[in-house]
Amino acid sequence: MAKKRFRQAARHERRFFPQSSANPILVRVIGGVGAMALGAGAWGQLFATEPFKATPWLLAAGAGLFGFAIWFGTSGDPVLRVGDGGVGIDRGTIRRIAWHAVTGITWDSEKKSVVVKGRDEADQELTVAARVASQPQAAAWILKEARERIADLVSVPEDAGVPEAVDDPTDLLPMDPLQVVGKRCAASNRSIAYEPDARICTRCERVYHKDYVPKKCACGAPMPQVKEKSA
Ligand SMILES: [Zn+2]
Repeated sequence: MAKKRFRQAARHERRFFPQSSANPILVRVIGGVGAMALGAGAWGQLFATEPFKATPWLLAAGAGLFGFAIWFGTSGDPVLRVGDGGVGIDRGTIRRIAWHAVTGITWDSEKKSVVVKGRDEADQELTVAARVASQPQAAAWILKEARERIADLVSVPEDAGVPEAVDDPTDLLPMDPLQVVGKRCAASNRSIAYEPDARICTRCERVYHKDYVPKKCACGAPMPQVKEKSA
């Protein structure tokens, strides 16, 4: 007799690359002037029959400006991820704050950032900030998803200036299933020994043992009550 196996819902998240917060025209002008000075300096050094005295200075200034433009035009902000797994910071390795592990989402009016505070998968404190200048869509999606999932924890003013979330399918990435074995049931503290025993809240990703699934998750989302027929 075929037994229907309980399967996790497919998980997705969006990945956002930082944008330069500097004026792109200014960056191009500085970079362009730097490149021209480099070119003129090199030309003077290599081809001018009578090299003029400014050549080394031009080369140095050109290289300096060019380097400055690259530095100035590249944001130091990390890649951010927002989705079913919570809010993640991606610096090669990804650390995420699951929605149920978020302690608060606030607005930093000085840096113009949406700030997510909570604990990561390893139960370490983690703060993820999305600056509207460099990560406008990450900030927008954090707010949009948080207001749908954990609205009580969001204290960002409506007029903060965070843009509307834009549904760009090229941002979307599939996620691996949540690793549930070894996690503890949020209701009974019972350890999950087998993957099929786990029931996951799709809103906040709290994990419950199948024998202790509440009618409502601690986040307020209704939990499907799956009655399993014993064999
Ligand atoms: Zn929940």
